[in-house]
Amino acid sequence: MTQTYRAIVIGGGVVGCSVLYHLARAGWTDVLLIERAELTAGSTWHAAGGFHTLNGDPNVAALQAYTISLYEELEKMTGQSCGLHLVGGVQMADSPERMDFLRMAHARGRYLGMETELITPSEAKAMFPLMDESHFVGALWDPVEGHLDPSGTTHAYAKAARMLGAQIELRNPVHELTQDPDGIWNVVTQNGTYRAEHVVNAAGLWAREVGRMVGLELPVLAMEHMYLLTEPMPEVIEFNETMGRELIHVIDFKGEIYTRQEGKGILLGTYEKAGKPWSPVNTPWDFGQDLLPPDLDRIAPSLEVGFRHFPPYERAGIKQIINGPFTFAPDGNPLVGPVPGLTNYWSACAVMAGFSQGGGVGMVLANWMTEGDPGHDVFGMDVARFGDWATLRYTNAKVRENYSRRFSIRFPNEELPAARPHLTTPLYDLMRAQHAVMGDTWGLETPLWFAPSAAEAQDIHSFGRSNDFPHVGAEVRAVRDSIGVTEIANFAKYEVTGPGAEAFLDRLMTNRVPKPGRIVLTPMLNHAGKLIGDFTIARAGPERFQILGSLAATKYHLRWFQQHLPGDGSVQVRALGMDLMGLSIAGPKSREVLAALVDEDVSNQAFRFMDYREMDVAGAPCRVNRISYTGDLGYEIWMPPEYQRRAYTAIKDAGAPFGIRDFGMRALLSMRLEKNFPTWFGELRPIYGPVEGAMERFVAWQKPDFIGREAALRERDQSPRLRRVSLIIDAEGADAIADEPIWAQVAEDFGTITPPHSYGPARFDAAGNQQPTPHPSVSGDWRVVGWVTSGGYGHHVGLSLAQGYLPAALATRSDPDLFEVEILGQRRPARIALDPPFDPQGTRMRS
Ligand SMILES: Cc1cc2nc3c(=O)[nH]c(=O)nc-3n(C[C@H](O)[C@H](O)[C@H](O)COP(=O)(O)OP(=O)(O)OC[C@H]3O[C@@H](n4cnc5c(N)ncnc54)[C@H](O)[C@@H]3O)c2cc1C
Repeated sequence: MTQTYRAIVIGGGVVGCSVLYHLARAGWTDVLLIERAELTAGSTWHAAGGFHTLNGDPNVAALQAYTISLYEELEKMTGQSCGLHLVGGVQMADSPERMDFLRMAHARGRYLGMETELITPSEAKAMFPLMDESHFVGALWDPVEGHLDPSGTTHAYAKAARMLGAQIELRNPVHELTQDPDGIWNVVTQNGTYRAEHVVNAAGLWAREVGRMVGLELPVLAMEHMYLLTEPMPEVIEFNETMGRELIHVIDFKGEIYTRQEGKGILLGTYEKAGKPWSPVNTPWDFGQDLLPPDLDRIAPSLEVGFRHFPPYERAGIKQIINGPFTFAPDGNPLVGPVPGLTNYWSACAVMAGFSQGGGVGMVLANWMTEGDPGHDVFGMDVARFGDWATLRYTNAKVRENYSRRFSIRFPNEELPAARPHLTTPLYDLMRAQHAVMGDTWGLETPLWFAPSAAEAQDIHSFGRSNDFPHVGAEVRAVRDSIGVTEIANFAKYEVTGPGAEAFLDRLMTNRVPKPGRIVLTPMLNHAGKLIGDFTIARAGPERFQILGSLAATKYHLRWFQQHLPGDGSVQVRALGMDLMGLSIAGPKSREVLAALVDEDVSNQAFRFMDYREMDVAGAPCRVNRISYTGDLGYEIWMPPEYQRRAYTAIKDAGAPFGIRDFGMRALLSMRLEKNFPTWFGELRPIYGPVEGAMERFVAWQKPDFIGREAALRERDQSPRLRRVSLIIDAEGADAIADEPIWAQVAEDFGTITPPHSYGPARFDAAGNQQPTPHPSVSGDWRVVGWVTSGGYGHHVGLSLAQGYLPAALATRSDPDLFEVEILGQRRPARIALDPPFDPQGTRMRS
């Protein structure tokens, strides 16, 4: 009988080797890595080896910090050098907008424990004298940045894994994967068939092909990427000799280039606008350790700017141009985790920054495989964050867009245009005809706001309040004063049916299962008692439930539902997707409008707050929830797509006497802020527990059992460290968005902020003097104590609002002068709103 491995990792690049090491470290030592050629034979061997901590997603940034902290440990353990050059780096801003972007990154770093610092162009030049600082307005210094030897690092992971008992087999391509009825995988290779409980796709450039072995089309595409190496340069040699150290790393956003010292010369890489996909449909199996032909014309525009910004570069001789492919997902983040719909098939691919992220990816995947949970908030890299709509051509368009924008600013109100419109509802053209500015949620076009004319129907991108501000305000006022209608197709909708449905939901959800015709709101927890979902559940019948949740989390949630289905077939879960369209009417006149369209009694007594009923609305068979995320009187009306236009038109006609107005997602989000309602992904995420998230009133503590109950009880009884709060900010022209630090004038260190890292180098001034890095989260008698999770303007209450997390001990302090929120580098006074600014008693939605 052949051995059955606990896991087989396919692919010996930096990611596969990291996964193998982390599995072995977690105690799974009967694991095997199979590599078709040699270790590093995919993208890894020709990488530039750069690493950094900064990332737009704070959770991914934390995993990047982990990766970098691992290298010295690996070197110590194995004796294998990773060739580390921890030199620090600067990101150069050439415009006020880019400076705002860097200010935000710096502010976010304050609570992530990063020792970043905003510096002047001259200070940056002191550390990198080859630049012409007159092109720049400022810079962000990050000490935790550098480069390494890609091959040495991969071999260090591999050696460490072997030392812990893992095995590696080289020169053995995997040809086929099949699964026995008992779940065991047969990994069919050139050298024979191996058996394993789990398989990990870490096949890098061939991840798509290894996905196809099990009928999976992973949204991943390789792009060509070029960097060049110069001959030794006198300016570099002189700097090294006089200063006794290496040049730092530089990112020049305007030139779309990154650059650093390599040997006695310079390395310069580009993320050019005209990026080129490599092998867009099939990756050739005979691609060896090959490079692609360089194409200097393609990167010429970037080089031109580069030569102006770094004048000595123009005089340097080019020693070598590297052009190699590496892979991306549509949003540029990795695809990690258990693939929904398959058993024990794990993804560790699309890792575009293997030397910043490979360690974090290996660690969370190993946690997930060995303990059932990644142990971190990894939604930003979860393979389940894309749906089946992320097809080959969609991926191609989005990856090219993402590549070309790698060094572009993404504004908070910016919707990216590639591959759109992709999914549309029957109302799409009607919305557009009414000058809707559309956004993309999980591939689906959704109205964000409505402009007065076609010419005005576009966002002017900004970090501050923008051109939508007065129009969103008018939409909010229409709802609060009379009535508005909006499309809500961008919710996830599930139907759970069968004799076991009630017990199934009772175990998964923290709240009680509703009685027929009633609705409950309920969080869902993982086994560690952390929030992994937030749902509205309506009971349509004894064995039939309709569940509404976050559209972007559809696959993430379906995976959890399917993993917990009883084996006896007594429960069916179906995602309704585009089979169910939604409209929401809200505002004090919404009952009158609904009454005009139905043949039923919808009075407050007959159709109560949190009731569910199936009824015809304007002749369309609908499911109606009496509930509204606006916090006003309102109804969510669900129908088959073929009835949606009819229902919408009838609502508009019936609402006309009341001045009904279309409103979009931005107005909806403004109104929910006025009610202190949280959002999934914003306030509610798997790093918080239900008490921290202020969701305890949706937890039925008396229920004898539900997943995460023990941990949630511990959290409740041992006083959680954090607490979600709502804040009113004295803002000016720009509201909080997310990830802004919250300062407090307090002496106590509550321990809720990650302490600054201490493994980066100090920075130097022009005279070569080391500069002390100011503690980023303390200033005078103020300190950073928390962070914002979402924010915006409450147009009805006329207040700038935000939600975020604070140490629980501060969360009930409504003193007016205690807090400040740092928005675009300015600390603005803020106070806690203990009660919702709009309708604190909740009478509007109930009456
Ligand atoms: C020019 C260039 C510069 C770069 N610069 C940087 C940088 O500065 N910093 C950074 O972090 N990243 C950089 N990268 C990206 C980096 O190379 C990747 O993030 C990283 O290599 C991904 O590693 P991987 O293990 O996922 O994939 P790969 O390195 O592609 O490894 C996959 C492995 O799987 C094996 N395999 C595939 N299919 C099979 C099969 N069926 N059976 C057995 N084995 C199989 C392959 O042979 C290969 O060895 C750069 C990339 C390029 C091209």
